[in-house]
Amino acid sequence: MANFNIDSKKARTYDAIVIGSGISGGWSAKELTEKGLKTLVLERGRDVQHIKDYPTTNMMPWEFAHRERLPKEITDANPIASRCYNFKESSAHFFAKDNEHPYVQEKPFDWIRGYQVGGKSLLWARQTQRWSKYDFEGPARDKFAVEWPIGYDDIAPWYSHVEKFAGITGNKDGIDTLPDGEFLAPHDLNCVEKYFKEQVGKQYKDRHIIIGRAAHITDPQQIHLDQGRAKCQHRVICERGCPFGGYFSSNSSTIPWAMKTGNLTMRPHSVVHSIIYDDKKQKATGVRVIDANTKQMMEFYADIIFVNAAALNSNLVLLNSTSSRFPNGLGNDSGVLGKYVAFHNYRASVSGEYEGFLDSTTDGKRPNSGYIPRFRNVYKQETDFLRGYAAGFGANRNTYSDRNGLGESLKSNLHETKYGNWSVGSHMMGETIPKESNYVALDKDLKDPFGIAQLKISVGYDDNDEKMIKDYVEQVSEMFTNAGFKNVKSHDGNRNPGNDIHEMGGVRMGKDPKTSMLNQWNQLHACKNVFVTDGACMTSTSTQNPSLTYMALSARAVDYAVKQMKAKNL
Ligand SMILES: Cc1cc2nc3c(=O)[nH]c(=O)nc-3n(C[C@H](O)[C@H](O)[C@H](O)COP(=O)(O)OP(=O)(O)OC[C@H]3O[C@@H](n4cnc5c(N)ncnc54)[C@H](O)[C@@H]3O)c2cc1C
Ligand code: SF4
Repeated sequence: MANFNIDSKKARTYDAIVIGSGISGGWSAKELTEKGLKTLVLERGRDVQHIKDYPTTNMMPWEFAHRERLPKEITDANPIASRCYNFKESSAHFFAKDNEHPYVQEKPFDWIRGYQVGGKSLLWARQTQRWSKYDFEGPARDKFAVEWPIGYDDIAPWYSHVEKFAGITGNKDGIDTLPDGEFLAPHDLNCVEKYFKEQVGKQYKDRHIIIGRAAHITDPQQIHLDQGRAKCQHRVICERGCPFGGYFSSNSSTIPWAMKTGNLTMRPHSVVHSIIYDDKKQKATGVRVIDANTKQMMEFYADIIFVNAAALNSNLVLLNSTSSRFPNGLGNDSGVLGKYVAFHNYRASVSGEYEGFLDSTTDGKRPNSGYIPRFRNVYKQETDFLRGYAAGFGANRNTYSDRNGLGESLKSNLHETKYGNWSVGSHMMGETIPKESNYVALDKDLKDPFGIAQLKISVGYDDNDEKMIKDYVEQVSEMFTNAGFKNVKSHDGNRNPGNDIHEMGGVRMGKDPKTSMLNQWNQLHACKNVFVTDGACMTSTSTQNPSLTYMALSARAVDYAVKQMKAKNL
């Protein structure tokens, strides 16, 4: 008679386990399965299958009971998620709900999460810029955080690798602070944006206005058609999930691709509790999972483990993975686990009006906008704060309708759109400095609904951020004024850290195991068969949107891990 226990253990044993199925986990799974590894993806949330599980994607505005706004009882129950601009009647089902997933805010921190297959890749704004050498060299040169163990040249081929597959629209702008990539046809700037670009070009040597780089398929290549994806239709309701696969998400791209290899097992409703470390083997042997439906603890085993639960949840999983060898969290010999968390500062914005081009307006929609790459403190230290900021930029024609009249006249007034001046706007994307005092830890008393310690987040702004906000407002206001824009105003939204949704760090890469958790291959210095390739690994944050870099690091780390595994080094 078969020994059921042995069989069951075998059925729960894989070559590789990936924790999380979002942007980075999807890439880890794709690369591992393509290289022939039987891979288990553990995802705490429900399954969301491309097209089938996008319930609102074809709904018209009038088909929503509250015209896209959420009822007060829902916003009251979700005060944190509600502060995200994308938490709407059409997309709220892709956000983790505040009351179901508690955490401790030692300082105010808006932790925005997407707990389902695909993670936040269903919700993101799809901006995808490469980092430049100035970003990787920053800490060594400016003496903050620790030195990166890799430079731009190490990751450049992997940026190309992921860009070609994901499909990135952009223009080759030849700007050394923002390296060009493998781009599909660019979107266009509108006439006022082009005018601003010209004015800035005339007045500032080192400042540029460009069209954003974004994960949208503008001219599908064979590799995109092979994924079953099609050209973006510019509907700009991407956060509902796109049935065309017009934008990159794990659900439309990496996960179905990995599934087609026959090597992927996707297990939704699987909350990873911790990673199992075997003292004798001196390596990780698997993970403990709580089944979200039954609340039962189970174990799964593998030779290599990729941690892709999104930055702060990856910290949580490692902190919760204690053993006699690692009493303070897996791989945490240095004591830096959970520390040096950083994020992006999106607090300030500048607006204005332009009285020209009154014979023009915009036509249709564009799932993208203009972008101002970082120009501060790049070649030398120019200001009294470290590092710099990039910024978004866009122009739109103001419209309004006359609400006077009664009956037929009111109806025709409402139908006739009237145009005002162009409005112009910009928002900052500032780099924050990773500091030991910005940390996450496990709360000693409070547990989540699965009995796992709640994450305590202690992350705040500092003086450097305040000075940077002031400089951004001054510089962009000056650029707007010099371009002839009127009514220039600035605004500090005072948003909490976290609302940028670019939290990073806590499991940082570095050269020295005494001051970092991961080596140049995203491999735990002290537990070689565990790799962390989401935002937790970031040593510093740059001013660029981060997800493209997580994708490239994931693909690069898998390539290394599989080679090491085949060479029997793991
Ligand atoms: C509205 C919005 C706009 C954004 N705009 C941009 C942008 O323009 N450009 C950009 O680069 N980034 C943007 N981002 C950020 C981007 O979405 C994230 O950087 C990216 O999704 C991170 O990838 P990830 O794999 O680390 O995490 P995620 O995509 O969040 O995936 C993590 C997955 O892990 C799962 N998980 C967590 N804990 C566990 C556990 N214990 N066990 C099992 N599974 C677990 C989660 O359920 C989730 O599915 C935006 C995000 C949002 C919400
Ligand atoms: S803008 Fe493009 S990617 Fe977004 S929903 Fe429309 S077709 Fe899809």
